[in-house]
Amino acid sequence: MTKTIKLVASLFITLACTSYSFGQKEFYNNNKFKQLDEELPTPNVYRTGAGAPGPEYWQQQADYVIEATIDEDKKRLTGSETVTYYNNSPEVLTYLWIQLDQNMRATDSDTYKIRQNHIGEKTNINQLAAIDGFPEYDGGHKIQKVTDASGNALKYTINKTMMRIDLPKELKKGETFTFNIDWYYNINDRLLMGGRGGYETFAEDGNTIFTITQWFPRMAVYDDFNGWQNKQFLGNGEFALTFGDYDVKITVPSDHIVASTGELQNPKDVLTSEQIDLFEKAKTSETPVVIVSQKEATKKEKSKATDTKTWHYKADNVRDFAFGSSRKFIWDAMGVDINGKTVMAMSYYPKEANPLYGQYSTEAVAHTLEVYSKYTIDYPYPVAISVEASNGMEYPMICFNYGRPEKDGTYSPRIKYGMISVIIHEVGHNFFPMIVNSDERQWTWMDEGLNTFCQYLAEQEWEDGYPSRRGPAENIVNYMKGEQNNIVPIMTNSESLKQFGNNAYGKPATALNILRETIMGRELFDYAFKEYAQRWAFKHPKPADFYRTMEDASAVDLDWFWRGWFFTTEPVDISIKEVTVEELDTQNPKVEVAKRKAERDTQPKDITTIHNEEAKLVTRVDERPELKDFYNSYDPLDADLEDYENYKKYKAGLNEADKAWLAKKHFVYQVDFENVGGLPMPIIIELQYADGSSDKKYIPAEIWRKDDKVVSKVFVCEKEVTQFVLDPNRETADIDTDNNYFPRKPEVSRFQLYKSGANQPRTYDSGRLNPMQKAKKNKK
Ligand SMILES: [Zn+2]
Repeated sequence: MTKTIKLVASLFITLACTSYSFGQKEFYNNNKFKQLDEELPTPNVYRTGAGAPGPEYWQQQADYVIEATIDEDKKRLTGSETVTYYNNSPEVLTYLWIQLDQNMRATDSDTYKIRQNHIGEKTNINQLAAIDGFPEYDGGHKIQKVTDASGNALKYTINKTMMRIDLPKELKKGETFTFNIDWYYNINDRLLMGGRGGYETFAEDGNTIFTITQWFPRMAVYDDFNGWQNKQFLGNGEFALTFGDYDVKITVPSDHIVASTGELQNPKDVLTSEQIDLFEKAKTSETPVVIVSQKEATKKEKSKATDTKTWHYKADNVRDFAFGSSRKFIWDAMGVDINGKTVMAMSYYPKEANPLYGQYSTEAVAHTLEVYSKYTIDYPYPVAISVEASNGMEYPMICFNYGRPEKDGTYSPRIKYGMISVIIHEVGHNFFPMIVNSDERQWTWMDEGLNTFCQYLAEQEWEDGYPSRRGPAENIVNYMKGEQNNIVPIMTNSESLKQFGNNAYGKPATALNILRETIMGRELFDYAFKEYAQRWAFKHPKPADFYRTMEDASAVDLDWFWRGWFFTTEPVDISIKEVTVEELDTQNPKVEVAKRKAERDTQPKDITTIHNEEAKLVTRVDERPELKDFYNSYDPLDADLEDYENYKKYKAGLNEADKAWLAKKHFVYQVDFENVGGLPMPIIIELQYADGSSDKKYIPAEIWRKDDKVVSKVFVCEKEVTQFVLDPNRETADIDTDNNYFPRKPEVSRFQLYKSGANQPRTYDSGRLNPMQKAKKNKK
């Protein structure tokens, strides 16, 4: 009995092992050009196989009427809202999910609990105190009341950053449900605790800039793909939001200027007639018009009003609403013509940001609108605003950026270009994800990657040689060659990303730039990219919609590219493994015999022969010539009659074209390429000739489709090649360029020098004199 059981058990194990190894190694299709059908969702009536919204595509809508008051002393926002939710889905809803983002800052927030801590050598008291967040700060949305349109209390349940409202009756297709929420929250000190919004108090004058974001209970997205997108807000994965119309009244100290999403409805209540005139003048001005001057703002800093004013804003078809408020705000504006429609580009900033912000901010806003409109869709909103708040964060029509020079008004190039870049980036977010409304909670790359790519285009159109941090292939190399356990594929949920900036900003932006410049070409890429933006403007795209549209509109099979760049962490490293020189056989015995003999004569002699020659050895046959016969003078390399006859026949068979080709000199090379990195890419090879000229050949990535390890290519040249160079313009992000040369020629390229200059962090300079200060000092 015992024996039988053992036998069965071991038999079972053997079988299991066998089938496992077969499954992995022999039968599974690991081809790098395998189509993505298994990874992408099946197309349906909502999202088509072409990557477009389907014939039955639907999306929800949520309209908001909000009243909010900021208590400047208490640093508290109190609000009440009426939300009208439209169920456009074919499904029946019995509950709604609302996002309470401020709860991420509640004292019991999971954000602090799931953060890893390590004891470092230099751990300071502040870090130890902040392990559990900021227990002294009573953060979080304090929900006061949830009622229906008639004021009856609604049943609701709060699960951390999400709140479920149980509907009193089913909400069917085409129906709306209106409800009210009253709440307040204590605004966070942004410099102490960080945060996308909050307040910043200036030590020198005691005044505050409020940047108010994620401030009202917002509808979660309900769609065909996820149902409710109610993944908790933990801090990294940003937002998934529903489009709607907003009517917002904001009450603040009467000397504040409010910069907000939307259009001001009551200018006469909050602005002077002079300010209104200047605003009108700005609409047609070629340069920014200052509406609130530094002088006015500085004067208000000292007086500090105690009464209040209410600013009334409206915004249509936006997915969110944010505002900034301060008596420190200087305000300038300029009309931008977007295909015949005037959009107001505007900036609000404290005097600490001048002269830099006044000179560049509104120009950078206008530039962004123009360039992005060219590559995506015409900017559809009436205003676009850049607020200086020493950070970088985006909302519809408004964003918060950094850009403060030194106290003497000078600044480093890092601050100047960092500021222009952050303004382009955050204004650019209007397009991705504010209009092309992707799910940021799930995929960071869909907005950050696409936006960083467009940012690169806009930077390069700002001035020649603009020091772009992300976009050029060479700038992603360090990330791509990093430790594999520090890298995850781009197709990874936002909260699980490692190296957020490189993964979700740098790598996808670079991938798109490579598609545009190297793989598809500008014409095909630009058309397809614009098509994606047009198809999904004011809708909710998913990754497959992007991948499919780019192929559908260009007739370029990019499945291998998405698979390699977006679904794996493999780097690009192609090597020239070997070059074989193939000499042409003329078949002419006279020529070939001489060649063969010359080759033999250059062969090194063996050591015994050398020593015998040195010793002047006399052999037996030397002594006795009668021992010689036919073979002592026979040379197997000599041609015989048959060789001459064959050559005659061969010549007679040549046509004129063959003869002409043979009359020229030819060099034939077989080059073997090895894919060391794993990611298939086009082979771009430069042949440098002995006469100093060169040729660049482009071999599409599909050369790797049958063998992704080693491929060979023969080059027939009329001139001798002295050097083969792979990817001479560094356009593929190849992580090891030493093996790009044959013969090998390791060297520090100018690209690496350039990169070390361009990859500087965008932090403030401290201590050292910036180049403007040095120049001033030298003058004295
Ligand atoms: Zn961004």
